[in-house]
Amino acid sequence: MLLGPPGAGKGTQARILRDRCGIPQIASGDLLRAAVMEKTALGVEASSYMDRGQLVPDDLVLRLIAERIAREDARVGFILDGFPRSVKQAEALALMIGAQGVALDKVVAVNVPDEELVKRISGRRTCAKCQAMYHVVFEPPRVAGVCDKCGGELYQREDDAEETVRERLKVYAETTRPLIEHYGRIGILSQIDGLGTPDEVERRLLGALDGLVRAKRA
Ligand code: AMP
Repeated sequence: MLLGPPGAGKGTQARILRDRCGIPQIASGDLLRAAVMEKTALGVEASSYMDRGQLVPDDLVLRLIAERIAREDARVGFILDGFPRSVKQAEALALMIGAQGVALDKVVAVNVPDEELVKRISGRRTCAKCQAMYHVVFEPPRVAGVCDKCGGELYQREDDAEETVRERLKVYAETTRPLIEHYGRIGILSQIDGLGTPDEVERRLLGALDGLVRAKRA
């Protein structure tokens, strides 16, 4: 599980890890955005919370996560990104996977100061097709507005507007950050510095996961 505030680089690192280990990335934000795009009843309900930078009610998120974890490709393992967001969700997750005889191997918290998060998120652009991330200043695509990897269109998430970002950071501090202590107590937590290039952060992440990545590849 990757834990950290919005803009910490969880999505970027989760995708790197997914490609390295061959296990799926399960990102609650991506699942919710897909439901919003498809205009499902769940998506319509979720969007009003997402637009305000608030957490979507647990029953909706848990339903999406349960469905995703039950899929065939998640049997070999999975990388959680953006879920859980509260101690309550963490407890629901433990019950959900515990019922299948599965437990979390590791939680890595990615730490980045707030001023850096606001800078990163306000320039962030996402590919509508493959979800790859860019930054207009720090990591621009070769052609403005077009994904280098798949040619998809790049867009700015509505909830990446500065005011909404501040609300998301507040929600993180109040509701999600307590998970660091929660998983610290359970004894499966490592914390890494999320500053620097994606390569630098990847090296720290692999260091924190030492043994685990090799074990999964074997
Ligand atoms: P993210 O892509 O992880 O930054 O999530 C975008 C938005 O989706 C958040 O600001 C929340 O509104 C919603 N969201 C994502 N994951 C969760 C979750 N685990 N619980 C509640 N809401 C979530």
